[in-house]
Amino acid sequence: MEIRIDHGTCIGAGQCTLTAPAVFTQDDAGYATLVPGAPRPRPRGRSPRPRCPVQAIVLGGDPPDA
Ligand code: SF4
Repeated sequence: MEIRIDHGTCIGAGQCTLTAPAVFTQDDAGYATLVPGAPRPRPRGRSPRPRCPVQAIVLGGDPPDA
């Protein structure tokens, strides 16, 4: 499953990195980025999207607020 981060929406809360550190990391400014070479399938039972307070994680190409 495709995972993208809406960088215009991300506020750097860091919940995604706490939930799925193998997939998400944070840049020097604290905003989320995908770990290079990380597996792209959604982590089973530990989806980071619900924990993102601003819904900045986009799964499967859906718009951020879908
Ligand atoms: S949880 Fe959401 S707002 Fe926080 S760093 Fe991750 S993508 Fe950004």
